[in-house]
Amino acid sequence: MTAEPVLARINVMKPWLGDEEARALADVVASGWVAQGPKVKEFESRFAESQGVRHGVATSSCTTALHLALVVAGIGPGDDVVVPSLSFIATANAVTYVGARPVFCDVDPVTGNVTAETIYAALTLDTRAVIVVDQGGVPLDMDPIRSLCDRHEITVIEDAACAVGSTYRGRPVGVDADVAVWSFHPRKILTTGEGGMLTTNRADWAARARTLREHSMSVSAADRHGSLLAPPEDYLEVGFNYRMTDLQAAVGIVQLGRLAAVLARRRDIAARYVAGLTGVPGLRLVSDPPYGTTNFQSFWVEVLPSFGTTRDGLLEKLAEAGISARRGIMAAHRQPAYRWRDSGGGLLQHTERLNDRTLILPVYHELDDGGLDRIIGAIRASAAGTRT
Ligand SMILES: *Cc1c(COP(=O)(O)O)cnc(C)c1O
Repeated sequence: MTAEPVLARINVMKPWLGDEEARALADVVASGWVAQGPKVKEFESRFAESQGVRHGVATSSCTTALHLALVVAGIGPGDDVVVPSLSFIATANAVTYVGARPVFCDVDPVTGNVTAETIYAALTLDTRAVIVVDQGGVPLDMDPIRSLCDRHEITVIEDAACAVGSTYRGRPVGVDADVAVWSFHPRKILTTGEGGMLTTNRADWAARARTLREHSMSVSAADRHGSLLAPPEDYLEVGFNYRMTDLQAAVGIVQLGRLAAVLARRRDIAARYVAGLTGVPGLRLVSDPPYGTTNFQSFWVEVLPSFGTTRDGLLEKLAEAGISARRGIMAAHRQPAYRWRDSGGGLLQHTERLNDRTLILPVYHELDDGGLDRIIGAIRASAAGTRT
């Protein structure tokens, strides 16, 4: 028996970073100003412009941007906020931070996103806001949600953490929300190491978020630095330190310039998966909804009972082949942090099914045809019933 050649490990994700980011960082270091300053300002305006919104407020993460979004929307104790359980736990946590109650709603069985119907089923007399999520980059169907929420005077916060570059009816996602938030964690589409952004067309909310993220100081640190005799500052309310650094923003500006290439590469890889996996019995592949396009931040598949093995069985087969895949999106209501909380108690059947059956396949710019063939081959072999 001859030993099998050791195959290179295939990761689920790898950020697209290059010399340009390194040079941008070196420039900031040489400038001597590394905290929030001119680069953050430039990144904010470039990002907002690219998303078709008036104001961008950079933050330390998407989670802190979500927290600020709820604060500027006036959400607090006694308020209910509808959120999907099928989301990264930060979506629900931000509601808990402000002392409001997250009320979990179900999702559409095809897209995995909240809909006007699933939100409606979770409304209470105390519902003041909803956090809608473009899960894994798949755009949500905003128009019906907007009319439902306008009718009930409910603030729409869009957690677009994964969705930069995704479109809804030909425009970037996020534009129709009252406020949207974005993540620049390396697991997402663009990265600044850690980082986030809040976008809104409301000048008053943007101004308050800008102040809140910097301890609610009446004069920003950058402005104080600009004058020899620093003016005295007031602390207008209890704020936070949720600032992004100029080091991160400089990387973000370069990353934003890569967005078109990143999107094209990811959609290319997704097309290869579709070509290689269409027709495999018991497998359902994520796809563009009729009203928009996904950035394929996640290329997920649903493993149906008619597949050769279970979702966890397929994960094991892939791991044996040196391929790192991941379980699909988590369900917050099943986690210890939320299991015992009062969350309205709705039925979350599609959430639980997708949480049990979905799996995320590798997508990153360096994943080549050889790697894709290996992944597709391993999945096809499992589907053919090689269960041991
Ligand atoms: C990743 C993610 C977050 C958190 O983003 P951070 O920048 O890591 O704080 C929030 N919501 C969703 C839907 C996410 O996928």
